[in-house]
Amino acid sequence: MSIFKKSLRAKFTLILFLYGALPLTAASVFFYYTAKDALFENVFRELRWNADGIASVLESHFIETSRNLVIASKNTAFAMYFTDHGNSAYWRNEQKKTLKYLRSIYPDMLDEACFIDSTGQEISRIIYDKVANDDELSSDEHRRTFFKNSFDMGEAEVYQGRPEISEDSGRWVIPNATPIYVNGGKVAILHFEITMTYFQLLLKRAINPDRGYGFILNNEGEFMANTLMDLSESGPFPRAVTQETAPSLSRVYKKMTDGESGIEQFSSGGKEFYVIFRPISTSYMKGRNANRWSMAYAIPADRVYLELNIIRYNVIALAVTFIAVILAAYAVGNHITKPIRALAGATNRLAAGETPEIDIKREDEIGQLSSSFNMMVGAVKKRDAALEALATKDGLTGLYNYRHFMETLDKEVKKSARFGRPLSLLIIDIDHFKDYNDTNGHIQGNEALKKIADIFGGSVRDVDIAARYGGEEFAVILPETLLEGAVKAAERIRENVERASFPGEESQPGGSLTVSIGAAAFPEAATDAANLIEAADMALYKAKSLGRNRICSVYG
Ligand code: GH3
Ligand code: MG
Ligand code: MG
Repeated sequence: MSIFKKSLRAKFTLILFLYGALPLTAASVFFYYTAKDALFENVFRELRWNADGIASVLESHFIETSRNLVIASKNTAFAMYFTDHGNSAYWRNEQKKTLKYLRSIYPDMLDEACFIDSTGQEISRIIYDKVANDDELSSDEHRRTFFKNSFDMGEAEVYQGRPEISEDSGRWVIPNATPIYVNGGKVAILHFEITMTYFQLLLKRAINPDRGYGFILNNEGEFMANTLMDLSESGPFPRAVTQETAPSLSRVYKKMTDGESGIEQFSSGGKEFYVIFRPISTSYMKGRNANRWSMAYAIPADRVYLELNIIRYNVIALAVTFIAVILAAYAVGNHITKPIRALAGATNRLAAGETPEIDIKREDEIGQLSSSFNMMVGAVKKRDAALEALATKDGLTGLYNYRHFMETLDKEVKKSARFGRPLSLLIIDIDHFKDYNDTNGHIQGNEALKKIADIFGGSVRDVDIAARYGGEEFAVILPETLLEGAVKAAERIRENVERASFPGEESQPGGSLTVSIGAAAFPEAATDAANLIEAADMALYKAKSLGRNRICSVYG
């Protein structure tokens, strides 16, 4: 995180990224979850809607069946058979008509319908459309479970039994039966059998195979119907849980056989499914339904995922936008901070002693900062120059000072010694300057000093170094110059001073302000800088003693 502390560019990138990306992210996350929720809501609504439809088809079957049976049982043909003994043949004929009517309600699905008295003796019966002959009527029906159970029912109550194999058709059927009451007593039962294939048919009609599949499970975990299977009419019911059944699906089967309802996800055959399941309600009617069934409707999850993919593409688009935002943020951050970084670099160079100028053509705050910086660099340059002048120059004459003179002479002597080049030195002293001061005053004396210094400047080459050596003594270092050249330069100086006019110089001895000059050459007259000065001094002394306003030199 220290990069964000240290780098303005990183900070800009981060801030721009956050400003760009945060609203984008928030919007996308919101969109993603609402879209996802809506999608799943739709899926679950479809599941529930289908489950409701299928369950109600099954439940109404049981309701309709028991209602049809009760209505048929109210037909006078059944009760009258027991009271109007004289016309029993007639009533039996009427009974057969009613049985045929029941049959017509369930075309192909009603295997057998019969009217059985309390002893178990069949009074009338049809198998499919065929009316049984008297010799075909059985007399031991009372032994069958459904008979006992239905004889226990109250008036207008129906018993719906568990599937059993029909004695007549050999197919799986569900027995339905209701007792017949005469004068408050049970005398017989009316019974018919509906084939199990009817439920398979109902389920297949209720479910669009392109959307999903469904099945009915009894409380023992057997398929009563399954739209994915062809169930045998007479073979054993297939068990739902087999070796291949995935655990997630087995859990669903278990919940179903336990009578629970819910929505679950399971995988089967490498595919994911969403399933809704619920028990078939049997509390609707008077009587008893021995079947504890549960129905399920399942849809493959990839149908949901297909729609989820659309959401995923949005997420990819979001990621791409994110990267674009980062790059744009970096580019903008880089662009904004570029001149600042240039400024920082220039400041570092300034601190290191350089005087860099920056070239930023902008009018904004950074442009202003840059021009301020350039102004500061200008001021630093001036101050440097002033400092250097202060350190090396003489305040009165503007010539180099004693210290600089000594340093330079030392360097020049060493250079000359190393490269074997000639070097000369002049030492100049104003003649009778004490007199000039005494006559004209110290201030006038200073003016004269300045003027003489100017004459030196104009009398020597640029490479020569003229310095104020003492109060009214001067020195000129002449690099690359032999003694003859130095004497010539000295002569020029002497002449120029003598020729120049100074206020009040008339009173000087000789009527003019003059200088005496001592000249010495290296290495002929000295071995080092100090010797050389001594030699030039000696020559000066000689010039003074010989009468002033002249040049004397030392050569060897
Ligand atoms: P000589 O010909 O022997 O050199 O005679 P002189 O009077 O010049 O003697 P000297 O060189 O000893 O002179 C030193 C005088 O120079 C003393 C002082 O009055 C004067 N002087 C030295 N420095 C300054 C200065 O800075 N300003 C002024 N106005 N006078 C100075
Ligand atoms: Mg002097
Ligand atoms: Mg003097």
